[in-house]
Parts: sequence; structure tokens; C-alpha cells
Amino acid sequence: MIAIYPGSFDPITNGHLDIIKRSSQLFERTIVAVLCNQNKQPIFSVEKRMEQIAFCTKHLSGVEVDSFSGLTVEYAKFRNAGVLIRGLRVLSDFEKELQMAHTNKTLWDGIETVFLATSTEYSFLSSSVVKEIAQFGGAVEHLVPKNVAADLYDYYS
Ligand code: ADP
Repeated sequence: MIAIYPGSFDPITNGHLDIIKRSSQLFERTIVAVLCNQNKQPIFSVEKRMEQIAFCTKHLSGVEVDSFSGLTVEYAKFRNAGVLIRGLRVLSDFEKELQMAHTNKTLWDGIETVFLATSTEYSFLSSSVVKEIAQFGGAVEHLVPKNVAADLYDYYS
């Protein structure tokens, strides 16, 4: 079974990485798919985000990095994937994620959304929090992979 883990990943955090590891143990193949979303103003380009993810997931078997634009279900069909992976951190994630899962199901009945509960140590972690800390010169090495921490320091220096 092929699973897709879609997201902005601007940038990837240790929380995302935890979900990718666990997905790779559940599914033959996990495609981490970076969404090209015109409405968001990312700090890293799609290519840079793909490079960051590829670097920190290279030791994981069955993990591939790609990008897509448009509807996630259309991309899933194109990649022959039957599962979408989403991470749940706190209760407030649930409403939006459930709505999205239902919407995707109405768009294509062939898709199932699988929610993986975040390990508690990462439940407070988001890309925005990491960017905010890095912007003000705080340490982020314990929150993101090493290569991403270096990119953040470069970006905000
Ligand atoms: P999006 O813009 O699609 O929410 P994100 O990159 O913010 O993109 O998140 C992608 C997915 O990863 C979402 O399912 C989100 O809930 C999940 N996620 C984000 N941060 C964490 C974390 N710290 N632990 C586990 N899952 C997370």
C-alpha cells in the first residue's frame, strides 16, 4: 500500500519526521509530498524543502519525496496511493483535519485518511513556532533536523 503524507513542511520539523518514520513502518511506501500552495508565503522554496526532507529521511526505507499542486486526491490517484497520512497534535487540529478527510472522501471514494497521533514530546511543535524562535535568534537544534537548523540560521542571519 502506498501512503502520501502531504503538507507545507516549511520547514520539516522533528514532529513531521516522527510521523514519516512511523508511516514508513506501516506502509510499503510513503511519499512525502510538498504542497505548492500559492496562497501561502513560504520562507523556503519547494525545491529547498524537498532537499531538506530528502536529506533527513535518506536512512528510511520506502520513503520518497515529491511535490504537487492542486487537489491532494488527484495527486493520490496519479500516484496510485490509497492512503493519506495526517498527524494529529492537539484537539484543535481535529476539527480541520476531520473536515478535510470527509471532503477528500467525497471527492474520491478510493482514499482513506489515516491519522497518526504525535508523540507527546512533539505535540507543541509546528513549523511556525520553529520559524518564530529562529527569527529571534533562539536555538532550534532540538526541534528540527540538523540540516534544517543550519538553513534556518542562514535564512535569518
Ligand atoms: P499543512 O499546511 O498541510 O498543515 P504542515 O506542514 O503544517 O502542513 O503539516 C503537515 C501535517 O503534519 C499535518 O497533518 C500536521 O497536522 C502534521 N504535523 C505538523 N506538525 C506536527 C508535529 N509536531 N507532530 C506531528 N504531526 C505534525
